[in-house]
Amino acid sequence: MTTTSVTATAQATPVTPAPRPVKTEARQQKALPAPNSDFYEVYETLSAEELATVKRVRAFMEAKVAPVITKYWVDDAFPFELLPAVKELGIGGIGMKGYGCAGGSVALLGFVQMEIARTDPSFSTFMGVHVGLAMGSIYIDGSEEQKQKWLPPMARFEKIGCFGLTEPLVGSGASGGLLTTAKREGDTWILNGEKRWIGNAPWCDVSIIWARDVADNQVKGFIVENKTTPGFSVEKIENKIALKVVQNGHITLKDCRVPEANRLQGGNSFRDTAKVLKMTRYAVAWMATGCAMGAYEAALKYAQERMQFGKPIGSFQLVQDLLAKMIANITASQCLITRQAQLHAEGKLTDAHAALAKAFCTAKCRETVAWARELLGGNGIVADYKAARFFTDCEALYSYEGTYQMQNLIVGKAVTGFGAFA
Ligand SMILES: Cc1cc2nc3c(=O)[nH]c(=O)nc-3n(C[C@H](O)[C@H](O)[C@H](O)COP(=O)(O)OP(=O)(O)OC[C@H]3O[C@@H](n4cnc5c(N)ncnc54)[C@H](O)[C@@H]3O)c2cc1C
Repeated sequence: MTTTSVTATAQATPVTPAPRPVKTEARQQKALPAPNSDFYEVYETLSAEELATVKRVRAFMEAKVAPVITKYWVDDAFPFELLPAVKELGIGGIGMKGYGCAGGSVALLGFVQMEIARTDPSFSTFMGVHVGLAMGSIYIDGSEEQKQKWLPPMARFEKIGCFGLTEPLVGSGASGGLLTTAKREGDTWILNGEKRWIGNAPWCDVSIIWARDVADNQVKGFIVENKTTPGFSVEKIENKIALKVVQNGHITLKDCRVPEANRLQGGNSFRDTAKVLKMTRYAVAWMATGCAMGAYEAALKYAQERMQFGKPIGSFQLVQDLLAKMIANITASQCLITRQAQLHAEGKLTDAHAALAKAFCTAKCRETVAWARELLGGNGIVADYKAARFFTDCEALYSYEGTYQMQNLIVGKAVTGFGAFA
């Protein structure tokens, strides 16, 4: 039997928690350190104002999301009931300036995504798709007029977005040639093709669709109002084993007519798509670190409470070895992404920097969540104990936004000077 529970505490865990008394040996009270995945105090690098935002997000995630998310995860369902409270959090368009966006530094964007993933990687993926990929495409590649029109309602979560790049037959090779086509007829574009894996697509309002212009063979981006555009249909992808809260769609575009006014005016080739992906890979590195933090904290709490051989399993050397390796992975990732944020703020973040962070943090997360699952023994494969959810969710983080291999090919090209893409 175990004493752990998925129920969230009513009050948010402080960013630097105080020791809590836990009964260990018979009749002996000992104050044990509360699980804390900020070993090198990276949260201290934020300003007081930004730290307050992160604390607000933590309080929301622990009070509102944690108590209900496992049920949604098991049911393959999205928690629409939480959206009104998400709107109140004031994090729509975080890291983006103007247009009704929440603003703040790129570090704040990272910390918020890490904090959300610490409780639920699906929820951070929903935010990553809506804010990072969909709003980000308009923010980075849209005209002034397009930003004015689309970003304010999206920042208020009145219109939710998705990002359609991957296709059934084109995944890692997206830069080498999309099969979805765009053909211009006067002031209208005709889109045909299929998109697969598109997060939020089964229920969202606005789809950023990337398609190959048949005239010049270049990739272009289109803002498609999917609920009202004839020829646009979405089928939900069923039976996923990871990020089950996120609703992924298989989109079919059949002679979809999109006005020239909805073509992203700054998205004229895959290089412009890659600018968006650089930002979202930056964010996925933070999300993966948050995922590892959530798994570690759950595992540590379990280790302090689970008794075997008459002692808490956390008192065994081999269990401590697992925990030490987990916190080392997390700390290394946190230090890397904090520096990544500095590079970004200095305007020096390259595609290779973001690729390295995405590859390293997702790989370390994968190792960490596996150790957390292992530490929980049999309970590690039951969704009620959190570790299992982090364990499977990490698999998707590792593969989406470009697989581990694709990130390493980007890094490999930067350090050797040789492109080794197929
Ligand atoms: C949960 C989830 C959410 C997603 N959300 C979105 C979304 O919102 N929008 C979107 O557009 N896409 C989305 N994706 C798609 C995701 O980005 C792709 O799955 C990913 O890019 C990999 O493409 P693929 O699945 O087609 O794998 P493939 O490209 O078929 O790759 C299969 C394997 O081959 C390897 N490989 C391929 N090429 C090479 C090479 N040249 N050298 C070495 N190894 C190689 C890969 O690394 C991988 O291990 C999502 C995916 C998932 C799982």
